[in-house]
Formats: sequence, C-alpha cells, structure tokens
Amino acid sequence: MYDIVIVGGGTAGLSAAIYGVRAGKKVLILEKKNYGGQIINSPEVENYPGIPHISGYEFATGLYRQATGLGAEFSLEEALRIEDGKDKKVVFTAENRYETASVILATGARNRPLGLEGEREFIGAGISYCATCDGAFFRGRETAVVGGGNTALEDAMFLAGYCKKVYVIHRREQFRGERALLETLRAKDNVEFVLNVVVEELKGEKQLEGVVLRDVVTGRRFEKRLDGLFVAIGQMPDNDAFAELVETDEKGYIRAAEDCRTGVDGIFTAGDCRTKAVRQLTTAAADGAVAGLAACEYAARTDAAPAND
Ligand code: NDP
Repeated sequence: MYDIVIVGGGTAGLSAAIYGVRAGKKVLILEKKNYGGQIINSPEVENYPGIPHISGYEFATGLYRQATGLGAEFSLEEALRIEDGKDKKVVFTAENRYETASVILATGARNRPLGLEGEREFIGAGISYCATCDGAFFRGRETAVVGGGNTALEDAMFLAGYCKKVYVIHRREQFRGERALLETLRAKDNVEFVLNVVVEELKGEKQLEGVVLRDVVTGRRFEKRLDGLFVAIGQMPDNDAFAELVETDEKGYIRAAEDCRTGVDGIFTAGDCRTKAVRQLTTAAADGAVAGLAACEYAARTDAAPAND
C-alpha cells in the first residue's frame, strides 16, 4: 500500500514525489514513456529561477535522480484506470494494480497536431513534433517550424544550427514566444519568417516534399518545398483515462485551482494537465510542491482514521 501514487514523471510529478518522500511517505511514480516530461526536449532553459542556464535533459535528469535518490519508486507503466474506493484508491496498469491512500494526476500535455490529411503518415517521414529529437536528420536540408510560441522559436534556433534553411511559419505577425529569443532568431542568416500564413496541405508520396500555405490576409495559396516540417503549435492534455473520475474542462484539462485539489477526496492534480493560466517549468514545480504536501496531509489523515471494514 502506497501513501501516494503519482501518475506522470514530468516536472510536476517528480517535484511532488520529492515533497512526498521527504515527508516520510511511500511514493510510487508511474510514467508511460520516459522521466522528465516535455522539458526533456528543450535544448536550453534560461528562465528557471536560480539556474541561469541548463538543458532540459540535464534539468529533468537531475530532478529524476533527486526524487529516486530520496526514495521515490519509479515504474515505466501507463496508468489506465483509477478506482476510488472508500478507504483506498487502486491504480491499474496493464500488468499491475497499486493500492494507495492518495493519487496525484500529473499527466502533462502532448503535442497538438495540425490536423491535416496525411499528417500521421508523414510522422518520421518529414513531419516531427520534436526538433531536438529529429533535427539532426535534416542536416543541410530545408525545414520549417510551424508556431509562434517559445517551443517554435527554440526549435527554429536549434534547427538553424543544422539546416541549410529554416522557415518559421506562423499564422499572425505577433509572437507568444520571448522577445529575446525572437531577436536572436531574426539575426540568423538561414532563418526566414513566413507570417500570416497557415499550412493547408502536405505534399509528397511516402516522404514529405512540401506544403501548401494560405496567406490569411490576402487568401493567396502557394507552395513551399520542404524536407522537414516541425510542428510546434502548443499542447493538449492527455486525461481521457481519468475523465470520468475527475472533472475536466471543455479542452480536457482537469479542473483544479491553485490548491491542486480535484474535487474528489484524495485525488490531486499538478502541472500542465490542470486548468491554469501559466504553464511553465516553474509553475509545474510549484504545483508539485502544493499537490505533494496536500497528498501527504491526506495520507496522514487516512492513516490515522480507524479502518472501515
Ligand atoms: P504556445 O501555446 O505558447 O504557442 C503555440 C503557438 O502555436 C502559438 O503561437 C499559436 O498561435 C500557434 N498555434 C496554435 N494552434 C495553431 C494552429 N492550429 N495552427 C497554427 N498555429 C497554431 O505553445 P508552446 O508549446 O510554444 O509553449 C507552451 C508553454 O511552454 C508556454 O507557456 C511557453 O512559454 C512554455 N515554454 C517554455 C520554455 C522555456 O521556458 N524554455 C520552452 C518552450 C515552451 P497564436 O499565437 O496565434 O495563438
């Protein structure tokens, strides 16, 4: 029997685990892919207080080692279902069932697709959602990044180091991404901004060969030849498995305020998977602390309560 089972081993989940184990609780983290969550693919993190410069991989690895070094258990399994019993909760994976006093849902978010015909088929054949993972395959080639947030700008910066040409395709002229990043990118010779356009079609047989773009101001459609297209248009939550257990909003984010409580006793949520205004590394870590401490307090109360046979 665990005190806390954490679903998701990203920044929020690992931070929650640190608080749990340091409070003497038995903590298990279930992660379906890899520790670290989204930040692991960020080449540079320069806005985490107290750490002027670190790679996402280094940051995530440090967090993982800290949590497991303190005693949190980590298992690469997908949590498929949670049963909310009277005295305990049960988390089911394909192979196992884990009994626990409390649960923290820290499932993060996954990349949003463009939703174009053929997009799935071109994954690994010209379309990617992770520049740091796949950028090196496009050395000396012509690529584009779609999006105007920090991910898109960071991806373009990363690709500019490998590619002959990098287009930044964005649907308007203003960027959500940081101004400093934008200015550095603007100074690069092999980066070109294609603004006020949307991607309407993907061209190619087995391998992506180009895209059809539409200028949203003039309505003009035109083709651009490309070897690779990196999609960085934000994230969406991955909470389908728990949508009947906790309340979610119309986009699928788990409804919770800054106290990270879901409205279901003993089930907490942390990080990008919950409703919130700012999704950053710092807010994910902060959520981890809040949810971790709330789960500790809940588990201690459950411990003290007489068994209900
Ligand atoms: P964002 O939500 O910040 O940006 C998504 C971008 O994609 C927007 O420019 C948006 O356009 C565009 N977009 C959305 N949907 C579509 C669509 N269907 N077609 C075309 N364009 C679309 O997502 P990010 O992944 O960039 O960032 C998520 C969060 O993570 C942010 O808070 C960001 O600051 C943070 N982050 C922090 C990093 C760091 O600290 N080092 C690194 C990377 C991300 P529009 O602007 O018009 O809505």
